[in-house]
Amino acid sequence: MFGVVVCPRCHRAKGVALSKKTTSCSCGFEIRVLPAKVRARVGTERELIEAVQRVSAELAGGLAEYERALEPRKKKRVADVHARVAAVAKRAGDRAHRIRAAAVELSNELEVFSYEDLRTVLASLGIPEVDESLDELLRANVVYEPREGFYRAVRPTA
Ligand SMILES: [Zn+2]
Repeated sequence: MFGVVVCPRCHRAKGVALSKKTTSCSCGFEIRVLPAKVRARVGTERELIEAVQRVSAELAGGLAEYERALEPRKKKRVADVHARVAAVAKRAGDRAHRIRAAAVELSNELEVFSYEDLRTVLASLGIPEVDESLDELLRANVVYEPREGFYRAVRPTA
C-alpha cells in the first residue's frame, strides 16, 4: 500500500510506502506518515506517481482559491461575517459540532479563514480554546491549510 503525504514545511506532495513511519522530503524535512494525514492511497507504485500529481494539482488549486479569495474579502464586512457564522454555529449542537460548523461556515463565507477569524467566532460561542480547536479540526481532516496560517474546510458545503 502506498500513499501521498504533504510536507508541512514546503507543502509539496510526496509519495511514500505506508509501511514507513517517516519519509524525507526533498526540502530536507522529515515528514511523519500519520494515517490521518495521508491524502490518497493506492495499491501500486505506478498508481502512486499519478496520485502524487493529483494531490499536487489539488494543492495548487487550494492556493489559487486562496489568492482569488483575498480580493472580494477586503470588500466584505468581515465583522458581519463573523456574526453570521457564529449565529449558524450556535445552532449546530454540542461543542465539537459548533467548532466544526464554525470552520465550515467561515470557509463558505470567506473561502479561506485565518486563526484570527476562528478566534473571533469561537469567542462569541464562548469557546476560548482556539489552538486546541484548530488542532482537532486539522487532525480530524475537517480543515486543511492551503497556505501557512490560512485554513479551509475540506468540504465547505457539507
Ligand atoms: Zn518539504
